[in-house]
Amino acid sequence: MLENKIRSIVIVGGGTAGWMTAAAASKLLRNQYCDIHLVESDEIGIIGVGEATIPQIQLFNKVLDLQEDDFVRKTQATFKLGIEFINWRRLGHSYIHPFGSYGINMLGMEFHHFWLRLLKEQGKAPEIEDYSIAAVAAKQNRFMRPIQRVNSPLSEIHYAFHLDAGLYGRYLREFAEARGVKRTEGKVVQVKQREGNGFIESVVLENGTAIEGDLFIDCSGFRGLLIEQTLKTGYESWLDYLPCDTAVAVPSAKVGEPTSYTKSTAHTAGWQWRIPLQHRTGNGHVFSSQYMSEDEATSILLNNLDGEALAEPRTIRFNVGKRKKYWNKNCVAIGLSSGFIEPLESTAIHLIQSNIARLFSLFPTRDFHQTDIDMFNNQASLEMDRVRDFIILHYIATERDDSDFWNYCRTMEIPDYLKRKISMYQNSGRIFREDEELFNETSWLAVMQGQGIEANGYHPVVDTISKEELAARVNDVHQVIARSVEEMPSHQAFIDRFCKAEKPQM
Ligand SMILES: Cc1cc2nc3c(=O)[nH]c(=O)nc-3n(C[C@H](O)[C@H](O)[C@H](O)COP(=O)(O)OP(=O)(O)OC[C@H]3O[C@@H](n4cnc5c(N)ncnc54)[C@H](O)[C@@H]3O)c2cc1C
Repeated sequence: MLENKIRSIVIVGGGTAGWMTAAAASKLLRNQYCDIHLVESDEIGIIGVGEATIPQIQLFNKVLDLQEDDFVRKTQATFKLGIEFINWRRLGHSYIHPFGSYGINMLGMEFHHFWLRLLKEQGKAPEIEDYSIAAVAAKQNRFMRPIQRVNSPLSEIHYAFHLDAGLYGRYLREFAEARGVKRTEGKVVQVKQREGNGFIESVVLENGTAIEGDLFIDCSGFRGLLIEQTLKTGYESWLDYLPCDTAVAVPSAKVGEPTSYTKSTAHTAGWQWRIPLQHRTGNGHVFSSQYMSEDEATSILLNNLDGEALAEPRTIRFNVGKRKKYWNKNCVAIGLSSGFIEPLESTAIHLIQSNIARLFSLFPTRDFHQTDIDMFNNQASLEMDRVRDFIILHYIATERDDSDFWNYCRTMEIPDYLKRKISMYQNSGRIFREDEELFNETSWLAVMQGQGIEANGYHPVVDTISKEELAARVNDVHQVIARSVEEMPSHQAFIDRFCKAEKPQM
């Protein structure tokens, strides 16, 4: 046993970030290694939004060994195959950013190069999304989990979940407490630092109780109680790149069957999300307060609900950007305390999971080696930068010129990485996943094509097959996907059969 091992972890905050961290720590450290203590304040509460996920959440569920149907039932979840972007490229236009890939690789080459040649030679071709099983299934509101079948797109279905954030927190809390995590309800009013090195020593609650720890995880949300208010770590704002800074959120009554995808509808100074759950629909309007008032944003949201509003709309302000360090001294910021990229591609829960994984791969001793801390900070920072660039793509690549907001977005200066990525695709149809970035080639292709960026070339190797063979191969993929989707049940039928939630208690 290491003499300088971590003896106690203190997690401040019981939102999605706090309970995900507690659940993972209780599982990975097997409740034997050290004490895990979570402090949360019922009076402050949680942010309570954050209901759409990406497929990587399945890895997190696997680490916890969750039974997926049980997880879906208990969080009133539905399945998500991608996101439909409406009015983003121009008014009246829509496209789907699906999970999974397009077609199949041929001649060792990504499918889209073949599609690009077909488009170039014929002047038209079916939309790229017609070659994605997730997109075609989403458009028909179907869903099933992948099955094992050789050479079938049905074995390549990638999916995520829409879930109730409050229920998800409760679910993880039950999991963590059952594995020994100690929870204390109370408001932290003071944070004590050690003389000399400034490391955090303890957090003190309103009733005077001091909770000491070796490692502190700041999951206190936007306020960054430890990482910022105490350690003054600093923040890099990205408002110039991503001008949306406010959201109005409201749940609405469920109408009809849940869609197997999230909807994102662009408005004049932002966009609206629609997230279907089993018992209700989550909605929100994300907008730039520089270009639209809160009243106008609220009225647009309420006028665009498909069911009756179930609560008063709630306004949430945010500052898009990242903390200058995620790990400072003996404190690691996870969740909104570490920074926030607006929720367009539902990446925040993933970034929580990713930083939890990073923390466990670099789990410290009480020596807190600076090289490990630097590695964590460099990796987390790079991951966030790449997600930011992908989100900016949705705003910069647009034909919309119907408002000051879109005129700003369309013409703003963008990071060099994004410029390079767009230019490479325009020149040669090539897309590369760099630095283990979160979004893969499919995602970049979906959004570049969807937003109207055109590739002028394709991989030269595609010219080694004849016109006829090209048309036959591409058409074959189209047909196989269409036939495969016909085998899938409706999203609702799938839920009813495997994971229908009980009616919520009123
Ligand atoms: C508008 C919007 C939409 C979003 N949509 C998505 C989405 O679709 N998908 C996605 O992945 N993410 C989304 N997110 C992000 C997601 O909501 C968050 O990443 C997630 O909820 C984690 O929040 P958190 O736990 O860091 O903070 P919070 O939920 O704010 O929790 C903070 C915790 O700290 C506690 N706390 C704070 N101060 C003290 C104190 N002094 N003493 C004791 N306790 C304290 C609070 O009580 C609370 O328990 C969205 C965010 C916003 C703003």
